[in-house]
Amino acid sequence: MGERRYSKLEEALEIKSLRRIINSYLNYPDAAEADVRRYERSFKKLSPAHKALLSHLPSKFRRLRWCISVNTHFIMSMLQAFEPPFDMSQDIDIDEHGNLKHVSEDHIHTEVSSNSQERDICAGQPVSAAGSIVSGLKSSNFCRGNDVTHSSQKSSNEKKEIHPENLCNSVADKSFTSEHHTESCSSGDDMKVNGDLASCCHDSTDNGNASSPRDLMDPSLGLNVPLVDVDKVRCIIRNIVRDWAAEGQKERDQCYMPILAELNRLFPDRSKERPPCCLVPGAGLGRLALEISCLGFISQGNEFSYYMMICSNFILNHTQVVNEWTIYPWIHSNCNSLSDNDQLRPVSFPDIHPASAGITEGFSMCGGDFVEVYNDESQEAFWDAVVTCFFLDTAHNIVEYIEIISKLLKSGGVWINLGPLLYHFADSYSPDDEMSIELSLEDVKKVAFHYGFEMEIEKIIETTYTANPRSMMQNRYFAAFWTMKKKPVT
Ligand code: SAH
Repeated sequence: MGERRYSKLEEALEIKSLRRIINSYLNYPDAAEADVRRYERSFKKLSPAHKALLSHLPSKFRRLRWCISVNTHFIMSMLQAFEPPFDMSQDIDIDEHGNLKHVSEDHIHTEVSSNSQERDICAGQPVSAAGSIVSGLKSSNFCRGNDVTHSSQKSSNEKKEIHPENLCNSVADKSFTSEHHTESCSSGDDMKVNGDLASCCHDSTDNGNASSPRDLMDPSLGLNVPLVDVDKVRCIIRNIVRDWAAEGQKERDQCYMPILAELNRLFPDRSKERPPCCLVPGAGLGRLALEISCLGFISQGNEFSYYMMICSNFILNHTQVVNEWTIYPWIHSNCNSLSDNDQLRPVSFPDIHPASAGITEGFSMCGGDFVEVYNDESQEAFWDAVVTCFFLDTAHNIVEYIEIISKLLKSGGVWINLGPLLYHFADSYSPDDEMSIELSLEDVKKVAFHYGFEMEIEKIIETTYTANPRSMMQNRYFAAFWTMKKKPVT
């Protein structure tokens, strides 16, 4: 990938986006408390006889508040550990046309955006040497350094050497979560060596970050956190269960095991000296990418949501022991519960200590939009395998995704996919008229064959996505699973 400089406008947009996400995390207790108040108001409207019948509910509300405080403790600890990739204290002002009006003292006063529609850009990070994982959020797009350990970017304008195995890009904050992903979310951050797992490509020491999460928030946003953002934080909590709790094991067995089995079958002679390279676009909270690393691959997760990156960074780099944290992931819905105790049950994580899991050197999490980051000459024919899990349908243009996946792979390289086709931008009523190419499975395969793939294995896998295993409602996907190989060019 070539060097890329971020304009001040782009950096300002990233800061704006990141502030919004931090605000949503900070707003978590208030939004949850508002729900409990709503339950209480409804309870108060009951007749005395009905109240007497449900006299246990006030104590449930008290328990809910306690659970919220425990979840909040986790969220605040995670934010505390987060080192923003840029100086968040900058005074930024973007006008209604998407132009930068003013950026602190030393920068341009007016800069016209070449692409005012560009989505929030955010984090990225490469994982460092064996023993520690690093994932970090980066402000600039490209942060690949040769030092995976804790290489960092100094500023978003600094040029960087590119080493394909340690790249790291900018993440856009789009918690792109389509319905199935609605129950999912993500974030990430730095991992370090010997003690931390993943790290990214930014230097946390030099950006003068704020010391408290509250300092990072955007006061202008205040408490006006849109409901969609409130929902994203709750999604992240469910994704923690999917990726990092014992309770998510069944889902991981359904989704990740078939992928890992295929990688194991297709790369039987993985050498320690020259391990094969595997890319995981849309890596979410990073568990699959970590498992692939532990299998003996140089594994890189790519993720563009700051929500996901902040959280994966924390789990990968800052957790010290198994089950260090406890959350109450299921408290936000009273629907379809078999019992209050089910709804209020705690979930501990991580079920493994990432830093002791046995990763292969070169593990990294790279922040940024898959298309922006990997549609680059430096990536061509670099990868032995690409793994997409619940990712393909996040595309505006799935044909573009497939074309890029094909370009990334070496001749004879392998693409393993698992997921439905619940197109994220389908039925989008956004005024932006966002592009959305929605193909059937048959057409997706046709496109793949056009780009040089041949089918090796194909089946349907039944699975859930961030489902509450004890809920009376379970959304099941009959997900497409395949292994395709990129035909050698003759
Ligand atoms: N693979 C994970 C996450 C699937 S959800 C799992 O199976 O649990 C899809 C993920 O892709 C989300 O985390 C979303 O933020 C991310 N994503 C969506 N569009 C993306 C893009 N263009 N580039 C990188 N990541 C993207």
